[in-house]
Amino acid sequence: MSIFSIDLPCPCQSGQSYQDCCAPLHQQKSVAQNAEQLMRSRYAAYTLQNIDYLVATTVPSQQPHLDPTAMLQWAQQTQWTGLEIMQHLPKIGKIHAQVEFKAFYHTAAGKQAHHELSTFVKIDGRWYFLDPTLEHYTSMKQPCLCGSGKKFKQCCAMFLR
Ligand SMILES: [Zn+2]
Ligand SMILES: [Zn+2]
Repeated sequence: MSIFSIDLPCPCQSGQSYQDCCAPLHQQKSVAQNAEQLMRSRYAAYTLQNIDYLVATTVPSQQPHLDPTAMLQWAQQTQWTGLEIMQHLPKIGKIHAQVEFKAFYHTAAGKQAHHELSTFVKIDGRWYFLDPTLEHYTSMKQPCLCGSGKKFKQCCAMFLR
């Protein structure tokens, strides 16, 4: 994790200082109140190479399948230049929300944009990122990975695409 002053503007570009924005989340002193806040704090964590936070905010049953070494390498190789939240859909289901965003970064080829519609699920009062790349670890007929008690296909799978 890189050194970053808490007085500086937050990397998530909220306009607030890091101290008043994502720092308390990264330090686990508070939890995100909604999916947009979690999305912002995850972007900021990428820019700060805080992989522990990225793992901790992924759906718990998906966490063992993440590859922290690869995540760190990617974060280190990417020069992030900004985040734009396009829309926040806070209630697409009882426990699901989505955030559409663009994350900008520089590569040797110039400025790039990563455009994504991310899905989040609320478990025991906390929001978690649902990693669509890990979907294949769960069968459609099995209980959902979020622990809702429904089958995967009738729960989180409905919101992944
Ligand atoms: Zn922030
Ligand atoms: Zn689910």
